[in-house]
Amino acid sequence: MSNKERISVDEIPKYKKKLGSDISKAERKSKHKHEYKDCLLVYNGSPYKGKYCVICGKIRDWDVCREKCQYGYLQLPDEIVFKRYSNLEQFEVSTLWGPDARVLV
Ligand SMILES: [Zn+2]
Repeated sequence: MSNKERISVDEIPKYKKKLGSDISKAERKSKHKHEYKDCLLVYNGSPYKGKYCVICGKIRDWDVCREKCQYGYLQLPDEIVFKRYSNLEQFEVSTLWGPDARVLV
């Protein structure tokens, strides 16, 4: 076998492997049961407590953080929310609505 042949033989399986993993990744993302995990979503610099799917990054159930007070509910200041949920994963999102509302996983 010449050097040139060896190179081309090596390249074929590599290419196939890459293509195969791309397909399975796409399949995994479209056909799965969402697995949601708590996280902190950061939108426009403000934190929202929510959940994201660990497989596709879809977000849901997010809300501002409120605390009950004598007048009803009070929205917690951002810095307190960041401190309180510092144990959660944080994701910056460009939007909280629509199909683009997802985190990178
Ligand atoms: Zn999902």
